[in-house]
Amino acid sequence: MLHIDTIAEVRAACERARRAGRTVGVVPTMGFLHEGHRSLIRQARARTDFVVVTIFVNPLQFGAGEDLDRYPRDLAGDLSQCADEGVDCVFAPSQAEMYPRPPLTTVHVAQLTDGLCGAARPTHFDGVTTVVTKLFAIVGPSVAFFGRKDAQQLAVVTRMVHDLDLPVEVVGCPLVREADGLALSSRNAYLDPEERAAAPVLFRALRAASDAVVAGERDAARVRAIVATEVAEQPRVTLEYVEVRDAHELTQLTQLDGEVLLAVAARFGHTRLIDNVGITVDGNTVRVDLGTGQVLA
Ligand code: AMP
Repeated sequence: MLHIDTIAEVRAACERARRAGRTVGVVPTMGFLHEGHRSLIRQARARTDFVVVTIFVNPLQFGAGEDLDRYPRDLAGDLSQCADEGVDCVFAPSQAEMYPRPPLTTVHVAQLTDGLCGAARPTHFDGVTTVVTKLFAIVGPSVAFFGRKDAQQLAVVTRMVHDLDLPVEVVGCPLVREADGLALSSRNAYLDPEERAAAPVLFRALRAASDAVVAGERDAARVRAIVATEVAEQPRVTLEYVEVRDAHELTQLTQLDGEVLLAVAARFGHTRLIDNVGITVDGNTVRVDLGTGQVLA
């Protein structure tokens, strides 16, 4: 496995792979890898020939007062997990390599970034789209794998690639959960034992709302209320938002129809967690994508 920290070297490695007739797969991450990241890597391994995992804690996507300085890092552990998964190349650049000067050029996707996480984190998605554009420019024509855990990010990156004709195919991958339903996240490491015990309330709430949709509920306000009521029963949690949106356009829905995103964000002490389920409503037929994992009944 190659471990590269310069743009020139990773660009050359990807070009070499393509010249040899191999497809390039890229999995952008901020490191501190867990089973969610590994599921993306496995998809990349299955679908492409030369798999690049990028590890970069991107300062541009953290707001003032957010957790940039304490974001968990473990490069040695990440490298060994990547080697276990048969990754071909890990690109782990320094901040100076990625941003030798503060960038004067940024990428902004309008509308899709306005609400949901964009409301509480107004600069976040510009940071994401700017770094992802840089990574795509560095890696070149490729297939990129993103988790549905970050459903808004997936919608934003997908739209950006369309709008800018970037030579990248974006693939959304299932959300991976712990056995008790908590969505895996590097930020789960911040939770103290009591917060960790409380955290599965998000999944319970999403599942209760999903059950109501399966039973025939289509009113978005009532679906949101089910989530809010369930979360309110857990005293350690402050709900930031619960939203019912079109899964692709991210427009607010009053009735559930088509491909729907039911998304939630909440604070557990100082830790902000997000979660979601995808609900497809086609007349009386409802399909709920709860993610994967040994979720308890
Ligand atoms: P991060 O390192 O948090 O920036 O995440 C890197 C990639 O892994 C993003 O595409 C995330 O959506 C994805 N990811 C993170 N957690 C999960 C999860 N629990 N299930 C699936 N994908 C995930």
